[in-house]
Amino acid sequence: APTGSDTGKTDSKAAGMNPYVGLVSSLRAAWLTGKTRTAEHRVSQLEALGRFLDDKKQPILDAMASDMRKPPFEVELSEIILVKNEVNYALNNLSTWMKDEGVDKNLVTQLDTAFIRKEPYGVVLIIGPWNYPLQLILVPLVGAIAAGNCVIIKPSEISSSTEKLVAEMLPSYLDKDCFAVVTGGPAETTQLLENKFDYIFFTGNPQVGKIVMAAAATHLTLELGGKNPCYVADESDMQNVANRLVWGRCFNAGQTCVAPDYVLCSAETQEKLLPALRHAITQFFGPDPRESPDFARIISDKQFQHIRALLGSGRVAIGGQTDEKERYVAPTVLVDVQPSEPAMQEEIFGPVLPIVTVPNVDEAIAFINSRERPLVVYVFAANSKLVRRVLERTSSGGFGANDSVMQMTLISLPFGGIGNSGLGSYHGKFSFDTFSHHRACLLRSMGLETMNSLRYPPYSERKRGL
Ligand code: NAD
Repeated sequence: APTGSDTGKTDSKAAGMNPYVGLVSSLRAAWLTGKTRTAEHRVSQLEALGRFLDDKKQPILDAMASDMRKPPFEVELSEIILVKNEVNYALNNLSTWMKDEGVDKNLVTQLDTAFIRKEPYGVVLIIGPWNYPLQLILVPLVGAIAAGNCVIIKPSEISSSTEKLVAEMLPSYLDKDCFAVVTGGPAETTQLLENKFDYIFFTGNPQVGKIVMAAAATHLTLELGGKNPCYVADESDMQNVANRLVWGRCFNAGQTCVAPDYVLCSAETQEKLLPALRHAITQFFGPDPRESPDFARIISDKQFQHIRALLGSGRVAIGGQTDEKERYVAPTVLVDVQPSEPAMQEEIFGPVLPIVTVPNVDEAIAFINSRERPLVVYVFAANSKLVRRVLERTSSGGFGANDSVMQMTLISLPFGGIGNSGLGSYHGKFSFDTFSHHRACLLRSMGLETMNSLRYPPYSERKRGL
């Protein structure tokens, strides 16, 4: 039978003025009935999530157009299809994932049964950011449902149209006893965090991640951000490199945690790369990207001001135009940027790509290793030995060679950071495992007591000699 949890927090701490006590305890009551543990319930909720995505496609497209003018094609790819793939993958594999996993036994446990049981944690909290406001709450939700948990979802208040859509439309698809949406910003999230959760899954920036970690006192996953370096080797096919870089940097107007954040290359490569980048930008978005229906806007005034300030680092080589009213920032390339300047100190999170020149790959590796561990390290090189060298001598959540962002589309790869870029991982089976406690189980037989007695006191001379 399911039991309550012990995260070190007590419900009394959350009592009093906290507005979420009632909600959390009603979910806990539902958890204690054990209904989310059954395969049938998990399957029905996953199917319902799939139906939500099908039925509400147009409202989803509209909400994201309103939040950040996200191009419909980008919404379909990154917010709908990607989540549906996760739903279908979980439905196809759930029965296998749920099976107890047998383990090797030693001599004294030969007659016993030893296994790992994947158990749901209980009542879990998923906190999302604004940049992929649906994907980054629903992909974790797939894992949480598949693993058999009750869930509170807290979407970002910044992407307010999507937040409203999720709060108004998602709950009617799911079992309301077990799944709830809470809206609001830092104040509401802080109050929510005063309650006892059995697992917290947070996606957002590293500073807030630290706050959540300190407040949580429970098991948690942190999906954070940072600056993803991208080394471009001298002998690369510059137009292909530029196409793949510009796509990764400008998808969702650069507001992507796995986007290439800055380029490291030699001065000679920079000279060849710049015209190729200019060509790619014009090919993708026309002579004036502001007119392109395929280029999103910046989410908020605050974020716009942040990106505009970064344009003062180094020198603008391509783009640089902005429009405050529309929160438009043109696809921009900065050169002559010093490592100490803001564009090289802060996560950019916009369509701006600084280039820092380094004499060779070893200097690039040293540069990467002198900074926080990123979510992804990218390298573009025809020489596979050079790719391996960067792979072996750097550390990051993920790694991509000769493309950007694409590694995260593989459901068979874990997605997550390391150090400052995150803790834990998810996607596909990794999501199921993330939201499951791996319970170590040994069911002993009552036989072979003579052998067992060898470990009981008194520890005679004969036993000690064994
Ligand atoms: P954020 O950390 O400001 O907000 C994330 C969530 O935390 C929101 O729901 C917000 O309401 C809540 N929150 C904000 N401040 C809080 C506080 N003081 N106390 C409690 N809760 C608080 O992040 P964001 O601006 O929405 O997202 C951008 C960041 O997220 C970037 O750093 C980006 O790299 C990162 N990110 C990481 C991933 C990943 O998978 N690793 C994906 C997307 C975004």
